[in-house]
Amino acid sequence: MSRADRAPGAPETRPPSIDRMAGWPQLAPLIEQAGRPLVVEALRAWAEAKRGASEVADAAACARWCADRLAGLAHPSQRRVFNLTGTVLHTNLGRAVMAEKAIAAAVEAMRWPTTLEYDLGGGARGERDQHVAPWLCRLTGAEAAAAVNNNAAAVLLALGALAAGREVVVSRGELIEIGGAFRIPDIMAQAGCRLVEVGTTNRTHLKDYAAAIGPDTAAIMKVHPSNYAIQGFTKSVTAAELVPLAREKGLPLIEDLGSGTLADLEAWGLPHEPTAREAIAAGVDLVTFSGDKLLGGPQAGLLVGRRALIERVARHPLKRALRLDKVRLAALEATLRLYADPARLIEQLPTLRALARPEAEIRAQAERLLPAFAAALDGWQTSIEPVRGQIGSGALPVDLLPSFALAVRGKGLDRIADAFRRLPIPVIGRIADGTLFFDLRTLTDEQVFAALLDKIDGLAG
Ligand SMILES: *Cc1c(COP(=O)(O)O)cnc(C)c1O
Repeated sequence: MSRADRAPGAPETRPPSIDRMAGWPQLAPLIEQAGRPLVVEALRAWAEAKRGASEVADAAACARWCADRLAGLAHPSQRRVFNLTGTVLHTNLGRAVMAEKAIAAAVEAMRWPTTLEYDLGGGARGERDQHVAPWLCRLTGAEAAAAVNNNAAAVLLALGALAAGREVVVSRGELIEIGGAFRIPDIMAQAGCRLVEVGTTNRTHLKDYAAAIGPDTAAIMKVHPSNYAIQGFTKSVTAAELVPLAREKGLPLIEDLGSGTLADLEAWGLPHEPTAREAIAAGVDLVTFSGDKLLGGPQAGLLVGRRALIERVARHPLKRALRLDKVRLAALEATLRLYADPARLIEQLPTLRALARPEAEIRAQAERLLPAFAAALDGWQTSIEPVRGQIGSGALPVDLLPSFALAVRGKGLDRIADAFRRLPIPVIGRIADGTLFFDLRTLTDEQVFAALLDKIDGLAG
């Protein structure tokens, strides 16, 4: 304490200035680590919290307090986690994890200038969607393609470009809400279209569509019911059945496939999910789907279909607002390339690998991990349990993927779940029926996970 702060023998009255505190040697390591501005911010908070208390001048206490406060900033806010929820494409956990080739392409595009909108042949301005459009056409059989921020954007743009100010006919059984704020009626309103609902919740017939079409109709739309299924006394009209009606009336038929895929999942023993190629082959004029659902790429919304329609979409002012950046375009292009060789797709695409992973392999992994899991949860009842996981993100809502989980039962499951979330790499499981499950279908990094089990603490008592 120097004379400037305090007269000899007198108790301290004036708190030290922020500048003085920042000069305390006890703060030096923190400034070195976090940088001066963040430490100054913490010191202001300290001065505020200890105002009037003599402790405000205690340099050691202050350094500890500031270090605690800044510890929260040591981790990035968006962090890697282990997704052991059983939902392979978990929207809250970032959906698809990308193929190594997509990662490498994205890193290259981040690090260097690229030909994003540059045509090397003519040395002139190019079109950014040209990096992915030829692949999308090759893989779907469509004439033309475009890419935007996500599938919600693709639907908004398609409706805005093709039907603003006019009517769009949709079945009542397809007026979906996808988690968050994506609701077909709201998107229609945003795009400036008038929604014309036809049929009933459970049954819609071709004649319902036909009766609803009038002079103001701009399009017929089909929406894939990605996250629910209507069962029982039901009737819906397939896209293929709608094609002749759309042709006769001279209207575009738009289909939102939601997840959509570019490969036939049955080849890997998975249930059928409509492919974009099937929709195009059936005669749908414009198809939209997501890049980061079953496709296994970065977040994107893809539009494929007739050239004249794609051109209208590309010219719409919203296209500019919804466009993809070079990093995601690079990752998307690399992901699409993988589909050109379906025989090797499963080796290269993590989403497909996780979905098609054999049960026996998952079970063997659970058996390898159970001893360390049980040791980490000493005192609780641990076991391997057969479970059913989900593809997620609205794909195939009623088909559950048989898998195996490390399970723990007993009182205080929330505390255990919390301890797993506080690990250096947080582990996210799922609690159901009084049991905490860690579904291993998506566990690729077994060694790292095993090492984490040693670090579980905070469970005593
Ligand atoms: C997921 C989904 C959307 C939204 O796609 P995002 O890529 O999340 O924007 C739209 N329609 C359907 C049918 C979907 O399944």
